[in-house]
Amino acid sequence: MIRRTGLLSILLAIVLLCSCNLDFLPLTSPSPSKPNTQTTTAPSASPAPSTKAPTPIGTELQVIIFDVGQADCALLMTNTHTMLIDAGNTGQDNLILSYLASYGIKKLDYVVATHPHADHIGAMAAVIRAMDSIGTVLMPDAVNTTRTFENMLNAIEEKDVPITIAVPGDMIMMGDVQIQILAPNSTRYSDLNDYSVVLRIEFGNSVFLFTGDADTRSENEQLASGLPLDADVLRVGHHGARTSSTQRYLDAISPSYAVISCGQGNTYGHPHDETMARLAGTGAEIYRTDENGTVIFTTDGITITISTTRGSGVQNTALPPTVTAPSSLSVTSYIGNVNSKLFHLPTCRLLPQEQNRTYFAARDEAVSAGYVPCLVCNP
Ligand SMILES: [Zn+2]
Ligand SMILES: [Zn+2]
Repeated sequence: MIRRTGLLSILLAIVLLCSCNLDFLPLTSPSPSKPNTQTTTAPSASPAPSTKAPTPIGTELQVIIFDVGQADCALLMTNTHTMLIDAGNTGQDNLILSYLASYGIKKLDYVVATHPHADHIGAMAAVIRAMDSIGTVLMPDAVNTTRTFENMLNAIEEKDVPITIAVPGDMIMMGDVQIQILAPNSTRYSDLNDYSVVLRIEFGNSVFLFTGDADTRSENEQLASGLPLDADVLRVGHHGARTSSTQRYLDAISPSYAVISCGQGNTYGHPHDETMARLAGTGAEIYRTDENGTVIFTTDGITITISTTRGSGVQNTALPPTVTAPSSLSVTSYIGNVNSKLFHLPTCRLLPQEQNRTYFAARDEAVSAGYVPCLVCNP
């Protein structure tokens, strides 16, 4: 149920007080990692009808879809900017914060709360409180009466973070990343899921679509809006529920990769068989966080590479062997990334480019130099 009274007024007041300029570009992020994923698939990207020349942008965009069980949490990183899309479920504060710490994230330029369900904003208050700074919280004009939602609003207020209400068609320029808001297109829905903020994220010729829990009604509205929907990578709507990922919607997106964020043995039966069948029909490679763990995309604006933290799963033939701790004999050193301050095992798929490497003879040496262990190889 949606009550659009007290909390909404507070929300709107905050919005009116804050700058709604979506173009603000605070260079507040740390120097996140720029992993050079060398061992995974490297298909040529985009069906995007972009007029941009297909040249590398000179930096990389990493899109990390974390394994958070039956919930959602994703991180976008370039070497200058960061965006968090949703923050897992209630009770996952430590998990989400350790994920962010493993990427050296202390500041976020944008935080997106796609819609006020607990499996999307569960740890949002903790994230907001833990960060040194947050540029803007992007959210729909929707409220929930839960403690989780109120806790998030309290954290936003405590930290004095500006709120931007998502308006379809608006663009967010985040360095070289161009993000268009595609939904929500209506102001009143019977289902909170349809308030989901839908984002089309373009980096050179590589395009990602994040759909929250948007269901059929929202998908139809997006189709009717005429805004571009085509994407290389689809973060599949609503954990793979049959009420999302309609055939017309998938036809318009035409994804090469689809990622479903869902928990093992979840009680909803997500992803539903009908959704899996429709996704298979697109020809997209399908990844699932319940089987593949965290799914990481890296793109230079032309080529997209993929790595996962678990090797088993659907259509994962292109994946490299599962990363396992090497025998002590093969560990001659640890490799640090001077930009991200992450350190890796030499066998990690996310080793930095040569010029960004520094070497440690022992783990303690890396830790005392302020380096943080990589999430993928867990050195
Ligand atoms: Zn959800
Ligand atoms: Zn939801």
